[in-house]
Amino acid sequence: MNLPHKPVVVIGAGPYGLSTAAHLRAHGVPVRIFGRPMVSWHEQMPAGMLLKSTPAASAIDAPQPGHTLVDFCDAAGIRRLVGDEDIIPVETFVRYGVWFQQRLLPELEEVRVVSVDRRFSDFEVKLDSGEQFRAAAVIVATGLSGFARLPEELLAAAPEGPSATGPVSHTSQHHHLGRFAGREVAVVGAGQSALESAVLLHESGAKVRVVTRGRDAVGFGDPPWKQPRLRPESPFGRAWSLYVLSRHAGPYRFLPPATRHYLVRRVLGPLGAWWLRERFEGRVQVTAGRCITGARVEDGRPVLSLAGPGESRSELAADHVLAATGYRVDVAALDFLGDELRTELATSRGAPRLRAGYRSSVRGLYFTGLPAASSYGPVMRFVCGTAFASPRLAKAVAADHG
Ligand SMILES: Cc1cc2nc3c(=O)[nH]c(=O)nc-3n(C[C@H](O)[C@H](O)[C@H](O)COP(=O)(O)OP(=O)(O)OC[C@H]3O[C@@H](n4cnc5c(N)ncnc54)[C@H](O)[C@@H]3O)c2cc1C
Repeated sequence: MNLPHKPVVVIGAGPYGLSTAAHLRAHGVPVRIFGRPMVSWHEQMPAGMLLKSTPAASAIDAPQPGHTLVDFCDAAGIRRLVGDEDIIPVETFVRYGVWFQQRLLPELEEVRVVSVDRRFSDFEVKLDSGEQFRAAAVIVATGLSGFARLPEELLAAAPEGPSATGPVSHTSQHHHLGRFAGREVAVVGAGQSALESAVLLHESGAKVRVVTRGRDAVGFGDPPWKQPRLRPESPFGRAWSLYVLSRHAGPYRFLPPATRHYLVRRVLGPLGAWWLRERFEGRVQVTAGRCITGARVEDGRPVLSLAGPGESRSELAADHVLAATGYRVDVAALDFLGDELRTELATSRGAPRLRAGYRSSVRGLYFTGLPAASSYGPVMRFVCGTAFASPRLAKAVAADHG
């Protein structure tokens, strides 16, 4: 590829990478984008999943009009997904992301970046195709990749790590949950991913029990028609706090670190979508108010040790434990970043500390999406955060390297 300048590299082709690259193009910045389009949604989320976010909160931000989910529906000739009550199947969302990529970024390269190292004021980037080249700047938009979290207590039953075919797995390791038909599965967690996986497992013939440490069993959000009317609208529902966090994410990084990390974990935390309730209640068993204190494998089956209120102790055996225990950002898991860069990178509890314009402490290295959440708030965990992040990030890169 012959580019007049050293390119800016975007690593990642999920909603954040695609949106960032489209904005960089609009600024006239030479950009190369790497990754498999929408692969996390296609391979690491269950088939048949429905998005928790509404259509209005599920647009991949583009610099020019004509690239929303509704535009995609019109182009594809399918029913318009537009109102708060319209629910988006993951398969439709994957098609939307691929359509966005093909229209705005047809030159996307479906290869992996294997290393990024500092070379004087630039970066040296190596690809798994064998190519090696110099880049003026690097934007990390690798999303959830490498950040799946398994609580230590569960590791005892999976000393070599979670695995789809072993006794314990993480939700990110499955696309087809039908493999568990006829088997007993304990799902650990109480967030949307836990509750929706439990429902999909039940619907494909598994016997499911959700295990949660929360005392009040599990909770579901209110449907749109029950949202309070006199509060401002946000992509996540009507509430002042959600409005501020989603529309004014800029000052978030000035909050004390403990507050920032707490809000990223808790805002829009463990709560199922309103439309999941009737598919869940009376169908999926729940063991609530129990902490997992240990796990072992007995006769090939995982057994969980549980501690409840007071001194109560119990055990739970299943054919498989599915950990829906989320993701934790740790730049140490980004194995393509060279040692020197990782050492130079200022972090806070494993996440990069970002300045204005999504700049990290390493000149020319930027982060967006989930790794930016501890600096810009919980909105960065969701697709709608592209509307805040991408224009600002592209503007900063154009100013620094244009
Ligand atoms: C079960 C589940 C349900 C969710 N539901 C919703 C929802 O309803 N609404 C919502 O807004 N959010 C939802 N999310 C959050 C959502 O996943 C993120 O908002 C979104 O995927 C982040 O996009 P991204 O572009 O940052 O990363 P991803 O979509 O994870 O994309 C990562 C990209 O990085 C690429 N990549 C990784 N490493 C490399 C490398 N070394 N070289 C090249 N490319 C690389 C991959 O190929 C991929 O293209 C959900 C998450 C989960 C787990």
